[in-house]
Amino acid sequence: MNFDLTDEQQLIRQAVREFATKEIAPNARHVDETGEFPAEAFRKMGQLGLMGIPFPEAYGGAGADSVSAAIAVEEVARACGSTALAYAAHMGLGSAPIFMFGSEAQKQRFLKPAAEGQYIAAFGLTEPHAGSDAGATRTTARLDGDTWVLNGAKMWITNAPLAGHIIFTAVTDSDKGKNGISAIIVPGGTPGLTFGKHEPKMGLRGSVSTAIMLEDVRVPGENLLGERGRGFNQFLQVLDGGRISIDAPRCTHWHPMASSRTWSGSAHSTARP
Ligand SMILES: Cc1cc2nc3c(=O)[nH]c(=O)nc-3n(C[C@H](O)[C@H](O)[C@H](O)COP(=O)(O)OP(=O)(O)OC[C@H]3O[C@@H](n4cnc5c(N)ncnc54)[C@H](O)[C@@H]3O)c2cc1C
Repeated sequence: MNFDLTDEQQLIRQAVREFATKEIAPNARHVDETGEFPAEAFRKMGQLGLMGIPFPEAYGGAGADSVSAAIAVEEVARACGSTALAYAAHMGLGSAPIFMFGSEAQKQRFLKPAAEGQYIAAFGLTEPHAGSDAGATRTTARLDGDTWVLNGAKMWITNAPLAGHIIFTAVTDSDKGKNGISAIIVPGGTPGLTFGKHEPKMGLRGSVSTAIMLEDVRVPGENLLGERGRGFNQFLQVLDGGRISIDAPRCTHWHPMASSRTWSGSAHSTARP
């Protein structure tokens, strides 16, 4: 098997490396010391077409592959870990599920602006009582006519208060166990959403991760992502992809044995973004 990068992948590496060296690295220390989100870098990443690398051009993306997306995250991480974490969460967790499971209307409404860099996206799975054990989700979504009403709490959600949309996992059918969890897209700014404090993270302070409280958050029935009851299965698939981009910077930048690329997570298999 040939593991060499294609011409396109090499071009993407070169373009992102040049951009990150010039536009992201000089601000990295400030971002980490102050915890200030690097908004200007994201605006420029949007202009350069980096915010939707693995999605088709019809949905605002660059039409490249997953390896290219991982390379882009890796190159951003060389310059700034905070920017890379926010970027990986935006692309791999906040945007990819809509490409994978969304309707055409959802792709136009939510994926396109995210991939074009009009806003940053987020994915709300983890809860105070359900981290690795995501099947124990307690947040609920019930139908009131044709409106989903969400209640519950999420933890550690990257990009949360800045996000143009957040994909939440919630129990829609409490008698069906893991087959009763669904994913629902909630636009940022929807009444009933409140955010906790910006969690301080060593070396990643400029990436904003917060708790989210959901209190009677109402969104149209059409915001259900994919099939009702498929949320658990969906997020396992999403996390399979998310691990590639989340681990890309860990392989080269965060891990002290960077050159050996031997980093591995915990031995057991769990659901963690
Ligand atoms: C910087 C950062 C960003 C994040 N961003 C997001 C995000 O955008 N969206 C989101 O939904 N979540 C996000 N998370 C949450 C992350 O996915 C969770 O932290 C993760 O799922 C682990 O959950 P937990 O912290 O509750 O740990 P726990 O589930 O309490 O696990 C603690 C330890 O116990 C081990 N463990 C757990 N269960 C078992 C078991 N059955 N057998 C053996 N060992 C076990 C785990 O491996 C781990 O080492 C983020 C977390 C961080 C730190």
